[in-house]
Amino acid sequence: MKLRSKLSLYSTLSKLLVLIAFIVIVPIIISFVSTQHTDSRLTNMKDKVIKLVDKVGIKEFLEEEEDSVFASYNILKEEYISIEPTDKVIPSPVFENTSRIWEDATVDYRLLTVTFRHAGHLYLMEIGKSLAVVKDLNGVLQRVAFFVLIISFAITILLNIGYSNYLLRPFHLIIEKKLKTVNHPEKFNFETIPTTTADFVYLDQTINEMMHKIKNTFAREKEFISNVSHELLTPISVLQTRFENMLSEGRLDEESYMRIIDSLKTLNRLKKVTNTLLLISRIENAQYLKNDVVSLKDLANEVISEIEERFTEKNIAAHILFSDDFRMQASNRDLLFTLLFNLVNNAIKYNKPEGEIFIRGYLKDEYFLLEVEDTGIGIPAEHLSNIFSRFKRVNTTLTEGFGLGLPIVKTIADFHEIRVEVASEPGKGSIFRLVIKNS
Ligand code: ADP
Repeated sequence: MKLRSKLSLYSTLSKLLVLIAFIVIVPIIISFVSTQHTDSRLTNMKDKVIKLVDKVGIKEFLEEEEDSVFASYNILKEEYISIEPTDKVIPSPVFENTSRIWEDATVDYRLLTVTFRHAGHLYLMEIGKSLAVVKDLNGVLQRVAFFVLIISFAITILLNIGYSNYLLRPFHLIIEKKLKTVNHPEKFNFETIPTTTADFVYLDQTINEMMHKIKNTFAREKEFISNVSHELLTPISVLQTRFENMLSEGRLDEESYMRIIDSLKTLNRLKKVTNTLLLISRIENAQYLKNDVVSLKDLANEVISEIEERFTEKNIAAHILFSDDFRMQASNRDLLFTLLFNLVNNAIKYNKPEGEIFIRGYLKDEYFLLEVEDTGIGIPAEHLSNIFSRFKRVNTTLTEGFGLGLPIVKTIADFHEIRVEVASEPGKGSIFRLVIKNS
């Protein structure tokens, strides 16, 4: 799971927990606050009524009723007040939820009961507020609270996602601009990624330092291989001439003659390897020009005619199937020839007798794809990742080859910014695909 998704998930879950806690707690708080508020309103009303009684006298209230009990409620029975004489003192105001019957209807009230004195007499007063009204108000308050909560929950989640994207941008830039695009330390992008986050500055610097070290090691290794190959070629040529002279002088007995022939074969192999290593290091050192425009269809035809003999030897059929031609700009014809030659050569080498080879060329999106497919022995999946390494040979039953064919393919492809893909099924065959940017 991506860091960005993890951060967003964590923040969403933690907010969800808070939201759940609020959903449980908010109704309790609202009902507590609203009860307190109702009680204080009832106390205010009680104070006002007592003041009114003091001002206008108790008769205004009691004379209206025959049994000397005053009772008043509004038409919807949302509030009511009753006053009646009593002889029992209630020491402090009592608040309770209770019901009263009015006109055959039972109504639930929040009720304040108090006793008060007026003109030397004791009176009992009840002031009630309908619980239905209180509950209605609670409901409205709860809905508003939930609405506000959910909206703020959604807003903070969106803000969090936006912020974590912004925060992780330098991290993605490091991956996209530096790590993903690098296929050679020479081409590494050492520019500093703009960020104010110290951790990303540190990561960027560490990667830059690491790439500097790798680049230096690469350069030293390249120089070493180039020097060694170059130095080896002279003694190899000297030995080769010496052996050839010994053969042409004709003074050797048969056994020595055969030994010299074997030595010449070994020397030839050594020369090929050395030349190949030199070729690779020269390409890597960009000692080749790229100023040819090459038709890949023509190139495929040339490779096939160059290698025709081998097709006949193994009785293999070659098919060139180009649905589009592609003229590759800024390229080196000889190197591209070597690249395709090596792929076709392998397709013959690792094919079955009477097998087939397909060379396809077609445009796909912004790419031109050049494929070499064979019906040969295939490559086991576990070896696919290292067939492009130097001297790596999967199938060592064949004596020809040094394990340098595919490294050359890869080096030339890198030099031309071509991507190489391989798909293979053991026993069925392989497809080597060159992915060329159509620019
Ligand atoms: P080699 O000189 O051994 O052919 P390469 O570098 O050309 O060296 O290839 C490396 C290894 O990849 C080979 O040893 C072979 O096992 C495998 N290989 C390359 N091309 C093919 C192919 N078309 N089919 C099957 N195996 C292949």
